[in-house]
Amino acid sequence: MIRKLFHHTIAKVFRRSKPGRHQPATIAAARHGIRREQVSSGARRTCEALQKAGHQAYIVGGAVRDLIAGILPKDFDIATNATPDEVRHIFRRSRIIGRRFQIVHVMQGAETLEVSTFRAAHDEDTLKDEHGRVLRDNVWGSIEDDAARRDFTFNALYYDPVRETVLDYHNGVDDIKCKTLRMIGTPRDRYREDPVRMLRAIRLAAKLGFTIDPGTSDPIPTMANLIENVPAARLFDEMLKLLISGHAVECVKRLRDAGLHHGLLPLLDVILEQPLGERFVMLALRSTDDRVRANLPCSPSFLFATLLWHEVLSNWEIRKKADELPTPALYLAMDSVLDQQAEKLAITRRIAADIKELWALQPRFEKRTGRHPFRLVEQLRFRAAWDFLVLRAESGEIKQELADWWKQFQESDPQHREALLQPEDTKKRRRSRSSRGRGHPSETTTEIVPCRVLSSH
Ligand code: ATP
Ligand code: MG
Repeated sequence: MIRKLFHHTIAKVFRRSKPGRHQPATIAAARHGIRREQVSSGARRTCEALQKAGHQAYIVGGAVRDLIAGILPKDFDIATNATPDEVRHIFRRSRIIGRRFQIVHVMQGAETLEVSTFRAAHDEDTLKDEHGRVLRDNVWGSIEDDAARRDFTFNALYYDPVRETVLDYHNGVDDIKCKTLRMIGTPRDRYREDPVRMLRAIRLAAKLGFTIDPGTSDPIPTMANLIENVPAARLFDEMLKLLISGHAVECVKRLRDAGLHHGLLPLLDVILEQPLGERFVMLALRSTDDRVRANLPCSPSFLFATLLWHEVLSNWEIRKKADELPTPALYLAMDSVLDQQAEKLAITRRIAADIKELWALQPRFEKRTGRHPFRLVEQLRFRAAWDFLVLRAESGEIKQELADWWKQFQESDPQHREALLQPEDTKKRRRSRSSRGRGHPSETTTEIVPCRVLSSH
């Protein structure tokens, strides 16, 4: 009871309402084109119940934008002037989550809806770092404030499923109709507050096929370095969203045009400047886009393994030239590339382990004698490693013949598999053993050729 009273009072104190600052346009169904049935029943019921209890409640953000643009939304978020405690009391099946800024998860059948209380826009009291990046953003506000703190005009639209109208605070509907992505407020200030907005601009413009308004895109190349101050975990999330958006190829092209690829994966720019590296990365992204669009699962480890593979190859080659043994050299190369990335991207330990496994399996495809191939196909990650091998062949890094052989091996019955095996090269084995004995590493079990070597031909 005391907690509730305290929350209520705090809510009232912290609601920084600035009435009349921005009057919204009320857009009727004939113009916005959203049909009530396009909204999930759970989202509709949640808004209705909140309104019945005397609160404002709207569907907001990406879902409204996507529906007006004719795209099926991923999920429906709800914004309200009710505090989290008030929301929690209206819905039996709900729970408050988050510590810094609480939101409520409302369960409606199999659906979980995210309900957030209107937030205040930033002002001179907002806590920022030395570059102007907002560090704390947890004050409740009015609907006008909530609209003003959103990033792009098309993301500040509030759909009321009861009245079937859209409240448009920043001309977002017109911008959708003319396929324009435009920042709310002064773009330079908004990028300084949160540099991730640069990545969001690129990702959303690529997803929607929109043009970024020059006022919004012009500052990006000169402000791209601010991405470096973004915490690694947030950058990883954002990068992943971008890569599994179904528009990764378009996103990477646009990132490069905007000069933004430097800050993301420190080496992505280097990779994209090497002909074979670029071909490989683009093929991998295209195949990811196809999978996303076909609703097939995509693993983050596979994606990051492809993005970083050519760096591993280059690093490995340098080590081998310095007379390191190939297998330990590969492991050292993998660690060195992942360590370099870890400073920028918080690749979790689990994902890093999966990436390493994929890479470490690659040289094993070269061994087509004895029991090696039989053991390899039994590996848990064989399927992913094989997909990786196919991309390497398609990009021209390794011979197509190797990928074809493995395809045939997998498709054959046990008897035919035996017939496919290559004869053991006993002479080579002897040679290699004796040269190792002399301290001369020539243990060349693999034909992997790094792009730098190939591209110089
Ligand atoms: P997607 O289709 O990828 O989900 P989205 O715009 O819905 O795109 P979310 O991350 O789901 O992206 O964010 C929901 C809403 O929150 C956005 O529509 C926007 O209004 C607001 N928002 C998200 N990130 C920011 C940000 N960095 N700055 C300001 N507003 C933001
Ligand atoms: Mg969303």
